[in-house]
Amino acid sequence: MSLTPEEIDRHRRHILLKEIGGPGVQKLRAASVSIIGAGALGGPCALYLAAAGVGHIELWDDDRVERSNLQRQVQFTESEIGALKAETLAARLRAMDPSLDITVKAERFSEERAPAGQLLIDASDNFPTRYTLNRLAHQTRRMLVHGAAAGWSGQVSVFASGVQDGAPCYRCWVPETPPNAEACDEVGVVGALTGMTGTAMALEAVKLITGAGKPLIGRVLLISGLSGESRTVALRRDPACPVCAIR
Ligand SMILES: [Zn+2]
Repeated sequence: MSLTPEEIDRHRRHILLKEIGGPGVQKLRAASVSIIGAGALGGPCALYLAAAGVGHIELWDDDRVERSNLQRQVQFTESEIGALKAETLAARLRAMDPSLDITVKAERFSEERAPAGQLLIDASDNFPTRYTLNRLAHQTRRMLVHGAAAGWSGQVSVFASGVQDGAPCYRCWVPETPPNAEACDEVGVVGALTGMTGTAMALEAVKLITGAGKPLIGRVLLISGLSGESRTVALRRDPACPVCAIR
């Protein structure tokens, strides 16, 4: 697949990077990603992936835009309150680049109606979805980009337990739902921090697709908005993990 003159013009700043270049842009055009959640993390993540020319993007979200979302979900506007998030975000992505294939899934995914992308992106806001996606990613041997944000803190990691020997899965790291687990609805969160987290997720996806750099496999990036510091912490595979332990 060669790039058209328009594509070369559009993606020039990626082509100039030796780690991406023309071949990387071609890989992005051929890639398919499923983003679960079109809210505070899924919004910036999807916008940057569409801008990078990711050819096939599947957006999963059954929520509608509420006024209280606008503080952080900057992909939506006042006039879109009440509209389906997945449909509204898809329209934004198509407006950025009409050549992209954007699929809307305004529903909850299940084992029967599973995400189709070669790369899964967990931009959800609840533990049941995180655990289900993690199991699906492991069983179907797909990489999973994970992100979460609450308060002033964000976290990003890549789980590759079904793809890479020794790589931990999400369940190895978080064996059970924390007792204080609350959805974003109930806790405060700084809008700009969700933007940083969603953008870091897009960056990991671009690295995984193009082969650039060192993805966050077996590591979690912890972003502290209050201190202005970020650090990465190593994660280990749990030999007794009910999802990824070798049987
Ligand atoms: Zn595991």
